[in-house]
Amino acid sequence: MKDKDTKKPKGAKKEELQAVKGMRDIIGDQFHLYQGFFEKASEIALYYGFKPIETPILEKEELFTRGVGSDTDIVNKEMFSLKTKGGDHLTMRPEGTASIMRAYLEHGMQSLPQPVMLYYYGPFFRHENPQKGRYRQFSQFGLEILGTKKSIADATIIRIFVTILEECGLKNFTLKINSIGDTECRGAYRRELVNYYKKHLRSICPDCRERIKTNPLRLLDCKNPGCQEIKKEAPESIGALCADCKSHFKEVLEYLDAMSISYEMDSSLVRGLDYYSRTVFEFFINEENSDGEETKPLAIGGGGRYDYLPKELGVRKDVPAVGASFGVDRIIELESYAKLMPRIVKKPKVFFIQLSFEAKLRSFEVIEILRKAKIPVMHSLSRDSLSAQLAMAERTKTPYAILLGQKEALDGTVIVRNMDTRSQDTIKIDKLAEYLKKIK
Ligand code: AMP
Repeated sequence: MKDKDTKKPKGAKKEELQAVKGMRDIIGDQFHLYQGFFEKASEIALYYGFKPIETPILEKEELFTRGVGSDTDIVNKEMFSLKTKGGDHLTMRPEGTASIMRAYLEHGMQSLPQPVMLYYYGPFFRHENPQKGRYRQFSQFGLEILGTKKSIADATIIRIFVTILEECGLKNFTLKINSIGDTECRGAYRRELVNYYKKHLRSICPDCRERIKTNPLRLLDCKNPGCQEIKKEAPESIGALCADCKSHFKEVLEYLDAMSISYEMDSSLVRGLDYYSRTVFEFFINEENSDGEETKPLAIGGGGRYDYLPKELGVRKDVPAVGASFGVDRIIELESYAKLMPRIVKKPKVFFIQLSFEAKLRSFEVIEILRKAKIPVMHSLSRDSLSAQLAMAERTKTPYAILLGQKEALDGTVIVRNMDTRSQDTIKIDKLAEYLKKIK
C-alpha cells in the first residue's frame, strides 16, 4: 500500500486519534438507516425462501486470488492482506460470493435439497481511493442461489433486488443486463474481441494494451475517455452466444418481461471478476443534484451467474450458481431513500421524570413496567432538576410525561401529565400500563 492509511488533517497533532482512511464510525441515526435497510432486505429475502449466512471477515488469500481472479483490480490493487504470526496469508474479504461458495463446499451443502438460497450482509474491504460513496470499509447486502443452472434463479435474484429498491422508495433506477456466455462460446468471443482491439492498438490506453494480454473481457470495462469510441464499435458478446447460452438469456429476459421489470441491454457490461458466466447485470441510480441536474449514474448493486467458480477454486464439483450484492452505503445516502428505521426503534410516547433519591430508587420499576407493556419511553435518569427534565420532554415532543416525586415514590403512584393540555392524573404504579394503553 503506497499511501498513508491514517488521515492526518493539516495541523493535527501526531497523537490525535483518528479512524483509518476510508473507514468511518457509523453513529446514531445513520446506524439506524443501515439497520432499517438490512431489516427490510432480509425480510424480503426470507419471504422468498432465503436463509441467512454470515462468513468470517478474514479468509485465506488464495480464495480471492483464485476465485475473483488475479488479473482483476480487486486482487491486483485493492485487497487488505496480512500475514499471520503462523505464516498464513489472509485477506479481509473484498466481496461475498467466493466466501459463500467456500462455505457451501466446506459444509457439503450439495447434499441439501437444491438450490441452496442464502442471504448475507456486513462489512467488506477494498483499498480504493476514498470519495463520496466509495469507502475502504463498506457494507453490502447480497443474495446467492447455489446449485441450479435454471434461468428462473437469475430472474429471482433480479426480482428481489427490484422489490428491495422499490420498498426503499427508490424509483429512478436502471437495470443493465448482458450475457457473456459460457466456456463453449466465450473463447471464440474473446478471440474476436482481441483481434478487434489489436487493430486499434495505437489508439487505446496502456491499461487496455495490457488487458488484451491478461483479461480481454475487461477491455469493455475501460473508463478512459480515449477508449470509448473504440469500445462502442467492439463486437458484442451476445452476438457470439452458443445456442444454450442464447436460450438461457432469452428465458431470463422473458421472466423480466412477464414481471414488467424494465431493463437496458448493455453490451459493454462484463463485470470485472473472472468467475462470471452467462447473465451479468448491474443496477444504477440517476439522481438530481441540488441544482436539479441529473448526475452521473451511480452503481448501487450488481451480480450475475458464476457457474465456474468451484473450478476456479480448484474443486472438481459442478455448482452452477447466481447472485448479486447491493452497495448499502450508497443506497442509504440517496436523497430518495425512504429512511427505513429498524423495528426496535420506536417513537417515544412518554418521558419519565424523577425527582429525589427515593424516586430514583423506584425508577427502574416504572421503566420496566413500560418496557414490558411495549410503551416506548425516554428518560434522563442522571438529571435531578424538574425544569431540565421537563425541557427535554418538550424538546423530544413526547405526548405524555410521567412524574415520580418523593411523595409518589412513597405512595406507589406516578403523575401522568398530558404535555399538550397540561392536565394531570395520579395513577397507581401497578395500573400505569393499563392507563397509558387506554389513553393511547
Ligand atoms: P461489486 O461487487 O464491485 O459489483 O460491488 C457491488 C456494489 O457494492 C457496487 O454496485 C457498489 O454500490 C458497492 N461498492 C463496491 N465497492 C464499494 C466501495 N469501495 N465503497 C462503497 N460501495 C462500494
